[in-house]
Amino acid sequence: MGKVFVPGTADRTADAVVIGGGIVGVATAFWLSKAGLKTILVEIRDGLSTLTTAASIESFRAQFTEPAMAALARESIEVWENFAEVVGIPDYQINLRHGGYLFISKDQSKFEEIKKTVEGYHAVGVLDSEFWTGDDVRVHYPWVSPDVIAGAFRAKDGWFSAHEATQGLAKGSPEAQFFLETEAQDIVVDQKGVSAVVTNRGTISTRTVVNSAGPFAIKIAEMAGVELPVFQVRRQRVFVAPHPRIPQDAPLTIDIDNDSYWRPETGGALMGWHDPAEPKTEPMRKPLGDYEFPAYTFDKVGALSPFWNDIMGDFKKPDLVVHAGQYVHAPDDQPLLGPVETVPGFFLNCAYWPGVMLSPAAGRWTADMITGRMKLEENPLRLSRFDEGVSIAPGALLRGRH
Ligand SMILES: Cc1cc2nc3c(=O)[nH]c(=O)nc-3n(C[C@H](O)[C@H](O)[C@H](O)COP(=O)(O)OP(=O)(O)OC[C@H]3O[C@@H](n4cnc5c(N)ncnc54)[C@H](O)[C@@H]3O)c2cc1C
Repeated sequence: MGKVFVPGTADRTADAVVIGGGIVGVATAFWLSKAGLKTILVEIRDGLSTLTTAASIESFRAQFTEPAMAALARESIEVWENFAEVVGIPDYQINLRHGGYLFISKDQSKFEEIKKTVEGYHAVGVLDSEFWTGDDVRVHYPWVSPDVIAGAFRAKDGWFSAHEATQGLAKGSPEAQFFLETEAQDIVVDQKGVSAVVTNRGTISTRTVVNSAGPFAIKIAEMAGVELPVFQVRRQRVFVAPHPRIPQDAPLTIDIDNDSYWRPETGGALMGWHDPAEPKTEPMRKPLGDYEFPAYTFDKVGALSPFWNDIMGDFKKPDLVVHAGQYVHAPDDQPLLGPVETVPGFFLNCAYWPGVMLSPAAGRWTADMITGRMKLEENPLRLSRFDEGVSIAPGALLRGRH
């Protein structure tokens, strides 16, 4: 069973060191330790899944058009749906709910685009994604605006507790050690490749390092002399306190005209909006939300879910809790996975905007590349894809970039 603690000293030797204790790093440590590697994860904060992972709205979807993303999503959803069995902890609950994902628009010119996107889902094997006319949408969800002209829907998409999932992966990691309050400060590289991770608590000797530092991945790569082609952008979400008029059987409802979304949560809701004016920023240790964000977001979600316009005046400031985190984007909006060929032993598992949902499969792929079970050329998300000119254009709806 994995052990999560603050070590007196970090001076020791490991087969692999994972940097970053968000859900992506923890999932990677899980599979590495399952493969029999003596694995140490270092996390600068005092808990796992407390930075970007904690700001997520914890939703998952199979609806991707990019083959690699669809493959990661398919495998990850299998893990989420069979979580207790995968982590080997009987009856472990991650509160998974198949609430559905519904993308909608009122823009007539997007009718064909939505139809084509659903065909794109089908083309990569997501056969249960449905194209709906506006009337179809309203038959299922009568509170949707009469202006909506079409939608893409998958009933088996949904959400779960990312915190419980991270804890379950940590607990289920045979023998892995999770060092809290332990900051990776440098990566030592010798003629054979990476040789150690220097931390504030001492040096861990290792020949394998995984960079899963979320928004700080760019900084960790610099320690190994690697420049990553990524940028960070702040994204916010609001928890809205319970209200009798928030339909609790609603799916995650995404307005693709203004990139806003909401879904039910414990009698209330979680909602967000991708502000196109949000600038690229440095990695943030404490990303803060804006005071006005709930007001802007109510305005956005009210466009196609108009009941929000009727009830938004009922909420007081304490009823609305804003969290912020950072999305990380590679040039094609897909993660960076696998070895950095110029620095032997240095692996990436980073550059996520949907890292919660994809984490178990991405962690498994990374571990398989480390153990040699997966070949570099079998990995479409390798860093070298940009130099090779084989990266695939993004197509997913709501990617958080403008
Ligand atoms: C508003 C919002 C909504 C979102 N909704 C969803 C969603 O519904 N579904 C979804 O899949 N994704 C969603 N995301 C994205 C998702 O939250 C991230 O992609 C995911 O959490 C990334 O996980 P991670 O482990 O890579 O990063 P993080 O959770 O940020 O973990 C990285 C860790 O590395 C640690 N670290 C950094 N530097 C060091 C160092 N030097 N030494 C040691 N540790 C270090 C950090 O402290 C941090 O804990 C959302 C994000 C936001 C902001």
